[in-house]
Amino acid sequence: MAAREAEGACEYRIRRPSDGELRHVEARARYEYDGSGRPLSAVGVVIDVTERREAELRIAHLAHHDALTGLPNRVLFRDRLNDALARARRNEGFAVLYLDLDRFKEVNDTLGHPVGDALLRAVTARLQAELRETDTLARLGGDEFAVIQASLDQPRDATTLARRLVEVISAPFLLDGHQMVIGTSVGISLCPTDGFDPDALLKGADMALYRAKAEGRGRWRFFEPEMDARMQLRRTLELDLRRALAMSEFEVFYQPIVNIDTRRVSGLEALLRWRHPERGLVPPDDFIPLAEEIGLILPIGEWVLAQACCDAATWPGAPKVAVNLSPVQFAGRGLVEAVAAALAQSGLAPARLELEITETVLLQDTEATLATLHRLKALGVRIAMDDFGTGYSSLSYLQRFPFDKVKIDRSFTRELGNSRQSNAIVQAVTDLCAGLEMTTTAEGVETEAQLAVLRRRGCSEAQGYLFSKPKPAEEVRVVLQQLRQNALAE
Ligand code: C2E
Ligand code: MG
Ligand code: MG
Repeated sequence: MAAREAEGACEYRIRRPSDGELRHVEARARYEYDGSGRPLSAVGVVIDVTERREAELRIAHLAHHDALTGLPNRVLFRDRLNDALARARRNEGFAVLYLDLDRFKEVNDTLGHPVGDALLRAVTARLQAELRETDTLARLGGDEFAVIQASLDQPRDATTLARRLVEVISAPFLLDGHQMVIGTSVGISLCPTDGFDPDALLKGADMALYRAKAEGRGRWRFFEPEMDARMQLRRTLELDLRRALAMSEFEVFYQPIVNIDTRRVSGLEALLRWRHPERGLVPPDDFIPLAEEIGLILPIGEWVLAQACCDAATWPGAPKVAVNLSPVQFAGRGLVEAVAAALAQSGLAPARLELEITETVLLQDTEATLATLHRLKALGVRIAMDDFGTGYSSLSYLQRFPFDKVKIDRSFTRELGNSRQSNAIVQAVTDLCAGLEMTTTAEGVETEAQLAVLRRRGCSEAQGYLFSKPKPAEEVRVVLQQLRQNALAE
């Protein structure tokens, strides 16, 4: 019978006799047997594998932890979530809290990455101090953290924790001689109420966080099923909007602006409409905010500019055309070029184009914004301040740039004659503008009574349903003709 060989290996720990230290050892042996199975020899080695084991553990740790804070990363967080779900089947509820720091980016950008890193570590320490041994705190990336709050009796427990986390993070941090104040928003989903799988719970907490941030900073929100419905609606609207641009579903309507003394049309404002195949005519307030958020306002805005200039070039009597600009168009590049191109392609005289901006534009990066405004003005176009009185209503804005016109928001026009405050504000604006040689236009004029008050207050122009609603481009000629006849009949 042939001889036989066998191998074996095992790993175990020993306490080293010399110093009592715990070591990992691996023992390997080879055994030889004769034809009848009798053992002949055994050769073996015992290797100290402590260093290798520790290196392996370090690598495993790195794969599951965030190097900066030492916290579990996204991968380990998911594992822990699965563990929590397994326990939840035995009737133990838990909460998932998503945290996103407010103003962290500002600190990182102004004070530099080393301070930003130190801040993230300090945040970790404060969060950890609020949690129990059985909870899990993880860093999901950037300034995002997540918590699994274990064995939850009531949703109230999650509220209590969220409030504490918001409080500890909003207390000032002192690092490296810098004092800084940040904050955090929290989104919460509950197991089993909001779902029984990791994806549902993570998505729920994320949507709740999105809502908490949208409502202002330093807040917490629980997930609600309607958030899901809203998100889906938003996604649908986003897809719809992109399609609308490709399929030319946008139209520009025009509303006349009338000189109060002569009742003649001095210009028309271009107002965007979306002719949706199912929903009909959609007003701009329903889609411009989303178009701004996803950047689609840039191509849409360029299209409006080009269309309005082309339309205006054909109007009899050469009235001006006013186009609304979004703050996002100022933040992006190419605005001045787009305006110049619209003028060149349509052949419209620059002095006939008026660009309407809101106070929000002046809030962002003022130096760059003022430079852009001056470049636009150098093209020969006019600049108007729109919706004056709704935002920060600072009269000082009017002195920062030589606006050609100020449009008084329709909320003031509506209250004219009813509220002394509105009267006083309209008077203050018209007086200031007269001094600065700016035209004033009252928006939303619906009655002769309002027009009479505006005339007494020295307002120069009026726009509103009293003269005409915004009309499709094809109807502009008829509207202009009608208004001319009305003016002559006065
Ligand atoms: P806005 O620039 O202040 O435009 C005036 C708004 O007041 C228009 O609403 C107009 O239809 C409405 N209006 C005019 N007269 C009256 C009136 O007598 N009574 C009442 N109750 N309302 C009147 P619309 O067309 O829905 O536009 C809303 C806003 O959407 C505009 O406010 C403007 O901020 C924005 N918008 C419109 N078109 C564009 C565009 O092409 N680009 C950008 N970025 N924004 C646009
Ligand atoms: Mg406007
Ligand atoms: Mg307005």
